[in-house]
Amino acid sequence: MSRHSITMALAGNPNAGKTTLFNELTGARQHVGNYPGITVDHKEGYFSHDGQGITITDLPGTYSLSAYSVEEVVSRDFLTNNRPDVVINIVDASNLERNLYLTTQFLEMGVPLVIALNMIDVARDRGIEIQAEKLAELFGVPIIPIIARTGEGTDELIKQAVSVARQKKEWQPTDISYGEDLDTIIIQLEALLSRDGLLTGRYPVRFTAIKYLEHDDQIITLGQNENQTTANEMEKLVTEVSEHLLKTTDVYPEAIIADHRYGFIKSILRQGVVTHKFDTDRLYTSDKIDKVLTNRLFGPLVMLCILFFLYQFTFSWSELPVSMMEGFFGWLGSVVDSALPEGPVKSMVISGVIDGVGGVLGFVPLIMFMFFGIAVLEDSGYLARVAFMMDRIFRIFGLHGSSVMPFIVSGGIAGGCAVPGVMATRTLRSPKERMATLLTVPFMNCGAKVPVLVLLIGAFFKEHKALYMFLFTLLAWLVALVVSKLLRTTVLRGEATPFVMELPPYRLPTLRGLFIHTWERTWQYIKKAGTVILGISILLWALMTYPGLPQSEQEIYNAERAAVSAKFPETVHQELLQAQSADTLLSDAARSLQEELEDVNRKESGSRLRNSFAGKIGTFLEPVSSLAGFDWRTNIALLGGFAAKEVIISTLGTAYSMGEVAIDASDSLGLRLVRDPNWNAVVAVSALIFIMFYAPCFVTVVCIAKEAGSWKWAFFSMAFNTIFAFLGAVTVFQIGNLF
Ligand code: GDP
Ligand code: MG
Repeated sequence: MSRHSITMALAGNPNAGKTTLFNELTGARQHVGNYPGITVDHKEGYFSHDGQGITITDLPGTYSLSAYSVEEVVSRDFLTNNRPDVVINIVDASNLERNLYLTTQFLEMGVPLVIALNMIDVARDRGIEIQAEKLAELFGVPIIPIIARTGEGTDELIKQAVSVARQKKEWQPTDISYGEDLDTIIIQLEALLSRDGLLTGRYPVRFTAIKYLEHDDQIITLGQNENQTTANEMEKLVTEVSEHLLKTTDVYPEAIIADHRYGFIKSILRQGVVTHKFDTDRLYTSDKIDKVLTNRLFGPLVMLCILFFLYQFTFSWSELPVSMMEGFFGWLGSVVDSALPEGPVKSMVISGVIDGVGGVLGFVPLIMFMFFGIAVLEDSGYLARVAFMMDRIFRIFGLHGSSVMPFIVSGGIAGGCAVPGVMATRTLRSPKERMATLLTVPFMNCGAKVPVLVLLIGAFFKEHKALYMFLFTLLAWLVALVVSKLLRTTVLRGEATPFVMELPPYRLPTLRGLFIHTWERTWQYIKKAGTVILGISILLWALMTYPGLPQSEQEIYNAERAAVSAKFPETVHQELLQAQSADTLLSDAARSLQEELEDVNRKESGSRLRNSFAGKIGTFLEPVSSLAGFDWRTNIALLGGFAAKEVIISTLGTAYSMGEVAIDASDSLGLRLVRDPNWNAVVAVSALIFIMFYAPCFVTVVCIAKEAGSWKWAFFSMAFNTIFAFLGAVTVFQIGNLF
């Protein structure tokens, strides 16, 4: 057992997970300095393993060990000057071939090596399975699979590293063949280096010889400084062979060397070490499909067709189940109506709970079909193509290809949520592009707005439901893009960042996967209706019911009812009381008694609503909102919508079931709106515009504040969107009224 500290160096490609592993191992016991004279970080940390003290250095990330960059020189110098007891080469398992390139150079250098096969979780997700033991055998060094992020496997890794370090091995270079031409010359160069001892204290001769062939500036200078005669002789040999190669094969030695290193890696990986669960045939087929589906001309056309088909499918298939759901809640309402005695409890259950929550739950079948369609697009890999194609358009508007996903998640294809959408902007690297995305994703038609759209479109544009839905989706995109262009040329001016996007191969979605995806999202929607929406519904019901009518007015209605009753003889009253259901045949007299009483009741509840807290606010806003065609009842719903957009429907439902309009209890809300004199097709479009673009719901606003790092942007988004939406709605309403 050694009381001395073991020294370890952590090396690997950029982003292979070095820093993550370094932090996992050392925790806070680290310090950062600079390598003398240059700006590259020098990070060193300490930790112990089974009582063994360990000093570890996080080397800068490099792809190679030539002298092409400062980082490469720093890493190489560190290894030669400090001679760590062991080098931990961390490689990204999901990108194995490229990462192993650096490994080949550690092998050639001969440093005591342990390979940390990192990110096996990512690899697994991509269907890549790696036989670490077999790979270790072929490379002749220990290879330990780890997940640096969770610390999985790191214990074993350090155990192996400590055991290699304790062997205090001399450097043992591995020979890689570079083909006959180069191998011959390498042997000559090696002989020359050994004969004169050039740089032998620094690197293995073969390593130096190869670096000479790679025209490594640093090595050439070092050679010149140590022994000019030998160095000149080396350089002369290299120049000769380079010229010869160039003449015969038209390539430089560097290229041949790189090719052979990859060849070496491939020859190892091909020996059943890596299995792709996704067969390569499929990749090939994918490419062929993409030739058409992402074609500059056909791609967008096909995309529009597919999206239109999605709406067609959703609406036609969900029509029956949606009307069944509406029927069910209508029935439930009438059951409760006859079961409970008149009073605030009954009013709350019917107007608050059943109309409110029922209005939201009624759309569950539609939401389910929509989510199912989206799950098909997503699971098949087509959604990634949509993002890919949209990138071209996005650049024009100052956004980034990576903005597409947040938009789609927020409801770009209808039926998402801006909250995860706002969070998804984290993938954007440029702060300004991110901010522009963050502020415009709430314009998409999220799952809460969809039912409102469906309701209004279904009520006022019955014949072309799918078409209108499709057009309003396009409008959401158009507005989002135009607004972000506006932001990017004013408050968020700045450069665009380059974009690379990988297209995953197409997959046939599994039924199981589709159902799970559909159900997860539908369930979220249902849960929201059962909790948040229920709470807000009841709260809004209370706001819409209290403080109730002033005594004097109440007495007027009571008197009116008494007057109506007095007009009819007792027998008619008896008949009405005994009638079992709405279907019971009544005499003419009993029917007119019923109608007249209902008339009074309706007027009473209308006055009560107008007199309520919510009614007062709605009425207060009416002078302004009427510019866009919204009456005080609609105002109440729109205010409620700020709490959660789903509430718009439920509040409209409550407002119009308590309203002054002549209604049948079992009429759907859509019908009630169509019959209302304050509503027509122009108002519907104006309301749609307003609802689509006004302030994001409360939860989204909080999220924007968090992601943007300040409330300033959250307030900006509330104010800007509301003003913008209102101007849009006013324009539509005023112009629409001219025709
Ligand atoms: P470095 O450039 O080599 O220092 O790499 P980092 O340590 O900064 O890691 C790059 C990214 O990969 C970070 O976002 C890490 O969170 C992530 N990462 C590192 N190790 C793992 C892993 O085992 N699994 C996954 N999924 N991500 C990882
Ligand atoms: Mg790092």
